[in-house]
Amino acid sequence: MFKQLFTLRKKIKQSIVFKMAVVYVVLFSFVLLIAAAVTNFAFAKYDARFDELDRTMSFVVSRLQTHQKQPFNIEEFARYSKTMIVITNISKNETVRYGELVEDTSRRMQIERPINRPERRMMIKIVSTEYADVPLKGRVAIVFVFTLVVLLLSAAFLGSRSTKRLLQPVYTMTQTARSITVNDLSVRIDEKDSSDELGELARTFNEMLDRLEVAYHKQNRFVSDASHELRTPLSVISGYANLLRRWGSADPAVLEESVTKIIEESENMQHLVERLLFLARVDQQSQEINLEYFNASELMSQILQESRLIDSSHTICEQIELGVMLTADRALILQAVRAIMENSIKYTPPGGTITLLCSSKDGQVCLGVSDTGIGIQEKDLPYIFDRFFKADEARSRLAGGTGLGLSIVKWIVERHGGRVTVTSEPDKGSEFRIYIPELPAEELDSASNNNSAK
Ligand code: ADP
Repeated sequence: MFKQLFTLRKKIKQSIVFKMAVVYVVLFSFVLLIAAAVTNFAFAKYDARFDELDRTMSFVVSRLQTHQKQPFNIEEFARYSKTMIVITNISKNETVRYGELVEDTSRRMQIERPINRPERRMMIKIVSTEYADVPLKGRVAIVFVFTLVVLLLSAAFLGSRSTKRLLQPVYTMTQTARSITVNDLSVRIDEKDSSDELGELARTFNEMLDRLEVAYHKQNRFVSDASHELRTPLSVISGYANLLRRWGSADPAVLEESVTKIIEESENMQHLVERLLFLARVDQQSQEINLEYFNASELMSQILQESRLIDSSHTICEQIELGVMLTADRALILQAVRAIMENSIKYTPPGGTITLLCSSKDGQVCLGVSDTGIGIQEKDLPYIFDRFFKADEARSRLAGGTGLGLSIVKWIVERHGGRVTVTSEPDKGSEFRIYIPELPAEELDSASNNNSAK
């Protein structure tokens, strides 16, 4: 999970950096393009005006140099071309101005040209009367800087808005994550809000919440089921203890019944607590597995002998192949087969037959127990390996059942990379088989690790 989140974080970082880079490159290219266009336009205007002044100068010079038949109204021409024409007669030291008068010509666009004819030595100066002309270059700079500032500000504004939009799903996720509490684990992030990597993050987050919610409810159910299971023997014990206090000393029959029941219920409770502690270790992943190479046939014979000793009401048979060897945790396998055997004894009416099986085929060791007991209804079969499941609550309770035996069997077998099968028919009997692969110790270890990770 953390590895997945770490890779996702890397991907999201790269994606955001890439998208931001694209946004900023586009915005800044836009800024530069506009600035270049404005400058180009301004300089083109400047050049055009300069050409105009040059043409005006050429016209004036040609009119002054040659004697044209048409009269030339220089004053009108100057006003029409928005210029001030200044003609200085160098020989006579006289200056005449035409057109709109401009006092300070220093900051205006202007050109000068001399006429060096011996009879007429003149200096002609043409000054643009348009205000914009002379400081044009300066104004272009101002316009350029102004445009740049405006565009940069808009780029920064647009950039921050698009960044905000880009990161919106992250803000939403943060808000959602904050609103999740133990009392309400049902909140989920809207996956539609985000696409690509952020969508993947939202999905991963939601999947994590799904798993947490399931685990949390499972844990809650486990605690309440365990409390319920413990309450029953406790109330039986306290009931018989009260009976004992009232009439126990006077009535030997009450004394006998109460003491027997108290011992029976205490044993049931001890059995239940041991199984609860085992499952707690399983949930904390602290249940150890100590693999060893052992004779599985001998293990089954041991169970056969001890069962015959404690149970004389059934016929206990065996189909045990000799010399079947297995690499597994012997104590745990013993515990699993014992749990199945205990069930067969519990759920087979007196006089029935129970058979212990042990064989090895196709690289699998099979350990089984079959009985001619009450059997299991088809509708209950999918649930018998669930914690606290009892097909018949009253019967199981009477037989001292906890509803935990088969869930422990399943865990032990799967931890060894194996599987449990069950075939059962009501009123005919059941057969439970444990299959464990005959793997070398090191392979078995990795197989069981994979299995427990699921
Ligand atoms: P319990 O402690 O109640 O026996 P288990 O987890 O061992 O709990 O078994 C779950 C349920 O499966 C039992 O309550 C019982 O209904 C059913 N079951 C298990 N083994 C047998 C069997 N050999 N014959 C009939 N029913 C069985």
